[in-house]
Amino acid sequence: MNEPHNGYINNRVLKIQVGFLLNEGVGQSRDMEFDVPRLRVADDLTLHYLRGSLRLMHNSRGILVQGTLHTSIQGECARCLSDISVELDVPIEELFVYPPQPDAEFCVADSGVLDLGPLLREETILDTPIGALCKSDCAGLCPNCGKNLNEGPCDCERNEIDPRLAALKALQEEMQKK
Ligand SMILES: [Zn+2]
Ligand SMILES: [Zn+2]
Repeated sequence: MNEPHNGYINNRVLKIQVGFLLNEGVGQSRDMEFDVPRLRVADDLTLHYLRGSLRLMHNSRGILVQGTLHTSIQGECARCLSDISVELDVPIEELFVYPPQPDAEFCVADSGVLDLGPLLREETILDTPIGALCKSDCAGLCPNCGKNLNEGPCDCERNEIDPRLAALKALQEEMQKK
């Protein structure tokens, strides 16, 4: 991961002008293809890429968005905490209400812009698996010293023997007294 942290695509690409579709009759639809590299969806979410297709359907309540998007985000190995890429298939099925209503979670704006950003952020976070590993046999961190055991053993095992030797020594001393 030596990629520079600049050069991300702005989340403006997720603001889709659907005015033309609203002007067409109910029942009309459009398919939208996504193939975007490194996309900053929000301050707390950057995608390594975004691919897939969505169908935008004009129905009586607004625009119904359906499809599956494929992406990859940076995550953390649940055992050793190293950075990993997590591949995700994000299913999308949401109604964007039009005209906009204050009590609807997702709306098409009066300007005809449908902003996929907040929905994509929510769905991506929901679909992020808990407990992803860098590899299936990740050795994890030593619970005692915190060393990443994938890089080799730590010194804790030797230290663990010491208390036992100490106990044995104490026992020997005890026996010698008698
Ligand atoms: Zn790991
Ligand atoms: Zn250790």
